[in-house]
Amino acid sequence: MSVLETRDLTIDFGGFVAINNVEFSLENREKHAIIGPNGAGKTTFFNLITGHLVPTKGSVKFKDDIITGLAPHKIVKRGLARSFQRINIFPKMTVFENIQTSLIARDNKHFNFFSSGSAQNREDTIELLELVGLESEKAEIAGELSYGKQKQLELAIALAENPSVLLLDEPTAGMSPQETKVAIKLVDEITKLRGLTLLFTEHDMSVVFGIADRISVLHHGEIIASGTPENVRSDPEVRRVYLGEADDATT
Ligand code: ADP
Ligand code: MG
Repeated sequence: MSVLETRDLTIDFGGFVAINNVEFSLENREKHAIIGPNGAGKTTFFNLITGHLVPTKGSVKFKDDIITGLAPHKIVKRGLARSFQRINIFPKMTVFENIQTSLIARDNKHFNFFSSGSAQNREDTIELLELVGLESEKAEIAGELSYGKQKQLELAIALAENPSVLLLDEPTAGMSPQETKVAIKLVDEITKLRGLTLLFTEHDMSVVFGIADRISVLHHGEIIASGTPENVRSDPEVRRVYLGEADDATT
């Protein structure tokens, strides 16, 4: 059963077609990686799905509804949350306050930035802190955390929306090999624990082949292959345009 589908999805940035007639389907509870060289259109594709960009043509269906053109916050409310390629936290707030604020923003229509939060809110905040392994850093200023921990916090913020589908744009970009290991294990565990469907982009092929059930390859804004890691790895077109360049990382 597919939870997310794009039909003929296209965006034209003034003559430059960054995403071109993409027909894509995300199955319930799968871990699906989108790979492709820098500039292939991965982030743009995510932005079209999450409402941060409006397509020139085509549609996005989430569960049973067409969501094309809806504002990002409305799409998030339906259960589709994301993290960004660049860190997206409140750097001057504590770790605790970052998560608490996200929960308050989710629950209140007119949210008060200075609200101290209910007991339930505090409990939910602590649950999320534990889930992403940041309970001992809860009082620290978010902007002063290590890069890897800021990404963990960002994950908690996305999870505060209680999504069924999670989009992660290069979750390990800029991480050390050790931070990458921790992050991937965490994402894998949380995906299982919460029964999430995962769609992610990633440049590290060992990460991709380690966790993805299915891989789609984006090249110049088009999906040139989609299938199991084995199918994609042995696809001659994929090897030619992409994997061939990074052969040592895929074996
Ligand atoms: P990826 O995430 O795969 O590295 P992007 O989606 O960021 O690639 O970018 C795909 C292409 O679209 C790039 O050539 C980029 O320069 C271009 N692009 C992205 N956003 C815009 C925009 N708002 N206006 C014009 N061109 C853009
Ligand atoms: Mg990108």
